[in-house]
Amino acid sequence: MNTDRETKVHRTRLERHAIGAWLGWPGPRATALLVAVLCALPAFSTDSSPFRVAAGGQPKAVIVVPGNAGPAVEFVANELRDYLGKITGAKFETRGDRAALPTGLNAINVGRTRFAADSGVTADGLEKEGFRIATRGSHLFLLGRDDDGTQFAVYEFLEKYCGVRWFFPGEFGQEVPRNPNLAVKAMDERQAPYFLRRTMYLAWSKGDEPVEVDYQRFGRKWKVGSSVKTVGVHTWGKIIPPAELGPAHPEYFALVNGTRQRDWSKFDGSHEYQLCTSNPEVVRRSIDWVRRYFTEHPDADVLSISPNDGLGFCECERCRALDSGETLEMYGKKHPELADRIITYANAVAEGLTGTHPDKRLLILAYTVYRRPPVRVLPHKNLVVQYADNAEFHYDAARKAERLGGLESWARLTPNLMIYEYYVWGGYVPARGLTPMIVESIQRFQRLGIRLFRTQSRADYGLSGLNYYLAAKLLWNPQLDPNLVLDDYFRTCFGRAAQPMKEYFRLLDERWKAAVLEVGTTDMTPQTVLYFLVSFNPAARARLRALLDQAAKAADTPGHQARVRFFAQAYRYSELTVEGAEQMLELERAGVVTVDKKFPTRVTAFKKPGELAPAERARAVESLRQAVAGWEARGKFMDEIKGRYVIDDAYARTCDTHYEFNPLEKLREIAKLY
Ligand SMILES: [Zn+2]
Repeated sequence: MNTDRETKVHRTRLERHAIGAWLGWPGPRATALLVAVLCALPAFSTDSSPFRVAAGGQPKAVIVVPGNAGPAVEFVANELRDYLGKITGAKFETRGDRAALPTGLNAINVGRTRFAADSGVTADGLEKEGFRIATRGSHLFLLGRDDDGTQFAVYEFLEKYCGVRWFFPGEFGQEVPRNPNLAVKAMDERQAPYFLRRTMYLAWSKGDEPVEVDYQRFGRKWKVGSSVKTVGVHTWGKIIPPAELGPAHPEYFALVNGTRQRDWSKFDGSHEYQLCTSNPEVVRRSIDWVRRYFTEHPDADVLSISPNDGLGFCECERCRALDSGETLEMYGKKHPELADRIITYANAVAEGLTGTHPDKRLLILAYTVYRRPPVRVLPHKNLVVQYADNAEFHYDAARKAERLGGLESWARLTPNLMIYEYYVWGGYVPARGLTPMIVESIQRFQRLGIRLFRTQSRADYGLSGLNYYLAAKLLWNPQLDPNLVLDDYFRTCFGRAAQPMKEYFRLLDERWKAAVLEVGTTDMTPQTVLYFLVSFNPAARARLRALLDQAAKAADTPGHQARVRFFAQAYRYSELTVEGAEQMLELERAGVVTVDKKFPTRVTAFKKPGELAPAERARAVESLRQAVAGWEARGKFMDEIKGRYVIDDAYARTCDTHYEFNPLEKLREIAKLY
């Protein structure tokens, strides 16, 4: 067994190989300090006079791009021109850096122009995705270490110095202040993200219009991104494909219930068909596979070598001899813990890769029966461990202790952890407030030295947009004061309606907490309908509605009014969704249907009119009529708000079917009998 001393020495040794160090960065603690120090430094310049962008609605600067600017820099230079135009009312010209500058005008340099080089303003010392915003006399430089950094420099300049805010995509989703005399102070500022991976999918990959590229572009404004390219999740089926190798080599696959034989054609691409990882040939083939992948895809940084989803792990003697002997309970059944055998395998593949690709890393999940860390082996320095958290469930003290306990144990073994988070789960879910949990968890990840993060998220900005907004800010800089971020959001997004809207979002936070505490989290996933019935109970709905009405009265600019309406639409969707679930309970009380206890929108049985007492029929007919009307109204409302980013239409409808959430078809079928 590993002793405390051994694991401590191991972790200290691994700090040198931590994901940041590998990219040529200082260690996590040093970077955290650096970010804090840089943010605290007063603007530096040899010349303290302000840099004038426009005066009296006339341009006082031109935008300059390098002659060899690629599409990313060209794009963001055009964004800058358009935003500055909206702010000042002036028309700005963009030009290459070879021509001489027009006299009497300043220059806003986007990317590495020759003027930047001449002024000694370089990207030297900047980390990946990092940037510099600096003035030198008649020049302003918005300069990244890479194209990502240059894009972030432009958006940071517009946000921090020009007052632009982006709340959600679309016309009213942004606040662009008017200032015909825009000038900014002299400055020299550097920034870089703390989290090297800050992945949020702000779109449903199969979504309708507007196209996904718009969402991705929107994510740039929030500085969502990654300097670490990670490939794959459950990949054993790719490393040793069952259909191809199973018939000739059943010994590569898991021994389950005494047999390695199975229908090799039935593999679905990600579930079961696990490998017998104590077979040296399986390890050899895995090493060949990762070597080939990195040779063919030199831009990939991290490649997954993780088991397929589901269970069905090998029960052969050699595999079992590697296990710790510990068990864990999952969905009411005891399972042997497998982290030791999984890490033994991953270590062997990682070691095998070092000969040809010493700079590449391999991803191994910490998941289901191998979620808790190994006790007999230590993870190889070239492994990245992906750990799934559920911050939204941390209000449940037992659940929080279990998840964070596991995470902290892993963090004692390796700094190379990647968090997988679930800010959304199930597209039909009504509005949820997770802001206290987001703050606490991201700050904790930083304390543990974790620098890689991804979360499930969608284009449901009316329901979850504030959660995403806050997370994006903290992933860039976890040391920001979250209260300042939120207060700024409410003030800029809602103006005079800030107070009731702040209270609205605070109440959403409070209601999610109440739901988790009341329903518990044992064998539950966050899309379970019981949570919404509690969080949006009638008393809460009345308060939420009253706050939105109050905000609608207080808002006094078209932008602020439109944004209150936007969130009121998300609320209306939430209300219709929860009322629909309540109508199913009423139908059950009326004796028409029996519903699933956790998912009352799922009908498990129903009665025909003849099976009801005559006196009960009138209530049954009326309840059915109301339920059908309610679900129809929800569908109609979803059509009305389609494509406006309030909810993720395509995802919501897919999940309505996938999770059997929407009972309308079933209700119509039953209603026909009455
Ligand atoms: Zn085996």
